[in-house]
Amino acid sequence: MPAMPVKLAIEGGSPIRSTLLPYGHQSVSEEDIAAVNEVLRSDWLTTGKKVGEFEHAFASVTGAKEAVVVNSGTAALHCAYYAAGIRPGDEVIVPAMTFSATVNAAVCLGAKPVFCDCEPDTLLIDAEKIEKLITNKTKAVVAVDYAGQSCDYDALRKITSEYGLMLMADSCHALGGNYKGRKVGSLADLNTFSFHPVKPITTGEGGMITTDSEEMARQMRQFRNHNITSDHRERQEQGSWAYEMSEPGMNYRLTDFQCALGMSQLNRLDEWTKRRQEIAQKYDWAFSSLKAIAPLKAKSDISHAYHLYVIRINPEYLHADREKIFQSLRAENIGANVHYIPVHLLKFYRERFSAREGLCPAAELAFRNIITLPLFSSMSDSDAEDVIEAVKKVHDRYLISKEVRIPSCV
Ligand SMILES: *Cc1c(COP(=O)(O)O)cnc(C)c1O
Repeated sequence: MPAMPVKLAIEGGSPIRSTLLPYGHQSVSEEDIAAVNEVLRSDWLTTGKKVGEFEHAFASVTGAKEAVVVNSGTAALHCAYYAAGIRPGDEVIVPAMTFSATVNAAVCLGAKPVFCDCEPDTLLIDAEKIEKLITNKTKAVVAVDYAGQSCDYDALRKITSEYGLMLMADSCHALGGNYKGRKVGSLADLNTFSFHPVKPITTGEGGMITTDSEEMARQMRQFRNHNITSDHRERQEQGSWAYEMSEPGMNYRLTDFQCALGMSQLNRLDEWTKRRQEIAQKYDWAFSSLKAIAPLKAKSDISHAYHLYVIRINPEYLHADREKIFQSLRAENIGANVHYIPVHLLKFYRERFSAREGLCPAAELAFRNIITLPLFSSMSDSDAEDVIEAVKKVHDRYLISKEVRIPSCV
């Protein structure tokens, strides 16, 4: 006799955990706090020496020539599009499966987003679908390393070289990973990162762009400081008040104490990436026996940074849809989430750019069935076991048994 399935928390049973396990969470050490305190006691809270030091450390970790720090991942995207020369009327090819910021930042410069569908098994931009989206207005192709797995940069580079386009990487998920042995941050012409608390390292809010182009780095440093020709420290050093400006810019500067935090966090990136990979492997192994749940495909020539651990449910085998599974996991105090609503389905993009359902069928289909499970470097083994136990509990409860029941006839 198979054991009776346990009563789910959503049905009034007791939850797997007593408190909610979030899908992502920062890790801040005493050394991080000491590094921040030291700067708070210094003269330079912003535009000081820590800015260049953090940029230098980040460039060396990612293998890029230049790194430009800013105060969010969205600011990083805005700077990168600006340096890529995106201006009103230009077209930018973007994947449908990403956070809205990837697309919004280009639209803020007057660009028209052209949505590209994703590979159904990885949810990364489908390189084979790009060519037919290229027009004489196309300026850039944006790759998003969804969940922490690198896109196929060799295939993408082949296309962007052939058509003379800028290759951009939104690598907000992928810091710490690599593609065919090449480090994330040195794969595209411009690579962007976020330091929001759920991301691989944090500065509270913050972001970075890496590039091998000194000229683009210079433009971005100017853009983050109102696009004026000198910053506060330079003017102080030169004993001068003069500055010039030929196009408007923003204030996207990151403070020195946040840069100190980022530098301190960077010391633990390798360890954290390994820990994320270790937990992902535990999940893979535990879920391999579940009929109606499968993780996204992880490619073999990529070191996946696992910002997100995303599963797909197969509703054919379940008495429940994604929403029900999501609510059931939440009731067990597992902080499940959904990443992302395909950008072209958001109201603004439907209304302003006539994007519609059916434009990117693989992203749309995936969206209906994906769930993000908790995964972060400071999670304990027992947290990971709670996630596994809850997923199995919910899966087994809703699984449609396909076994043919042979009636006992005597
Ligand atoms: C987090 C994120 C951003 C935005 O970064 P912020 O620091 O929150 O502005 C952009 N793109 C992707 C893919 C992200 O995950």
